[in-house]
Amino acid sequence: MSRLLIIGAGGVATVAAHKVAQNPDVFTDVMIASRTVAKCDAVVESIKQKMGTCNFQTAQVDADSVDQLCALFRSFKPELVLNLALPYQDLTIMDACLECGVNYMDTANYEPREEAHFEYSWQWAYRERFEKAGLTAILGCGFDPGVSGIYTAYAAKHHFGEMHTLDIVDCNAGNHHKAFATNFNPEINIREITQKGLYYKDGKWIETEPLEIHQPLTYPNVGPRESYLMHHEELESLVINYPTIRLARFWMTFGQQYLTYLDVIQNLGMSRIDEIEYEAPKADGSGVERVKIVPLQFLKAVLPNPQDLGENYDGETSIGCRISGTDKEGKPLTYYVYNNCSHQEAYRETGMQGISYTTGVPATIGAMMFFKGLWRKPGVWNVEQFDPDPFMEQLNKQGLPWHEIFNENLELV
Ligand code: NDP
Repeated sequence: MSRLLIIGAGGVATVAAHKVAQNPDVFTDVMIASRTVAKCDAVVESIKQKMGTCNFQTAQVDADSVDQLCALFRSFKPELVLNLALPYQDLTIMDACLECGVNYMDTANYEPREEAHFEYSWQWAYRERFEKAGLTAILGCGFDPGVSGIYTAYAAKHHFGEMHTLDIVDCNAGNHHKAFATNFNPEINIREITQKGLYYKDGKWIETEPLEIHQPLTYPNVGPRESYLMHHEELESLVINYPTIRLARFWMTFGQQYLTYLDVIQNLGMSRIDEIEYEAPKADGSGVERVKIVPLQFLKAVLPNPQDLGENYDGETSIGCRISGTDKEGKPLTYYVYNNCSHQEAYRETGMQGISYTTGVPATIGAMMFFKGLWRKPGVWNVEQFDPDPFMEQLNKQGLPWHEIFNENLELV
């Protein structure tokens, strides 16, 4: 018996639910719960259409409320909660897990609503409590964070004596044929991209202006794409867990059109996350009233829904780690491990585009590692702190095959 509760019913949760359904030998009892239960029912319906059957339960829950979460946990009795809602809900779900004795996994680190700030400190502060409760919490088990950390752990285990530089390179070479859209939750995505850049060099963190540092990088089967240095959460744990790393950076590609739109959005004040007053019609139609809105949340409501991009999305993603250092014999080594994922193939299999797919599949594999007893130890952990081998094996089986290139130019110095 393995009882899994998925929270959230967005793009990533939809992919995870499809993958969970494809592995009934591992996942025996499954519930999907989210703020809008109709979306959970739609996920189940989509699985039924693809697989002919789906016996997942669904439920409504506001994951900002520990009380509501606990009521749900007590009735469904999950062994593991897979949090695929938004980063704002991480701590309430972790609190509910502690209260009810449930294990925890997510794909993005906690962010306070009022401040776009990415770091693990809030969740690492739960270590002792999870350890004492004998519960496992696994943080950041998507692609990046997630597979990026597992690739690094695999490189350290099998190829390197010492790793010196780590560059995580994330290219979306797909085209959704919209003027502007984000590939996952627009609010979370725009908060992330408009932040200052940050990278690690010789024991220090160095801040840059947003998207200030960029250079073309060549991606397999894609070619050169302008790649921008950004702050990304997994660097924080990776430089601690692999202290020989002297330089750690994260790069993501953006097209010129996307950046032009982003610039306009920022200049118009539409990426603001503080509340502003706005005059809106009263619900009863009797004139207008002053209401508070957050411009970025309003923008999310008018942008294309990332879940609707899949049908016309072509091209592929290419995400990997470029690592340099010395091999087990002390000789210089460069290593590039990556996956390319086709948006159309992801859509055909799950109804979602490649970004949701590359996140939802690793989340499912992480849950599989937990239920198989391979990734299970009391405390709060980042993915690289577990054995990467069984996870890497499943990546090949579950639709995200990986490839290795040894001793070629990493293009990054
Ligand atoms: P979506 O916006 O598509 O889905 C979020 C889901 O969470 C929605 O179903 C939403 O419900 C639900 N939700 C939001 N607030 C609550 C709440 N208070 N209670 C219950 N449910 C709630 O996002 P994505 O699927 O694109 O992303 C999901 C997560 O994956 C995010 O945390 C994102 O940061 C992360 N991610 C991680 C990546 C990685 O590689 N590690 C890459 C991409 C995403 P409703 O529909 O009612 O709004």
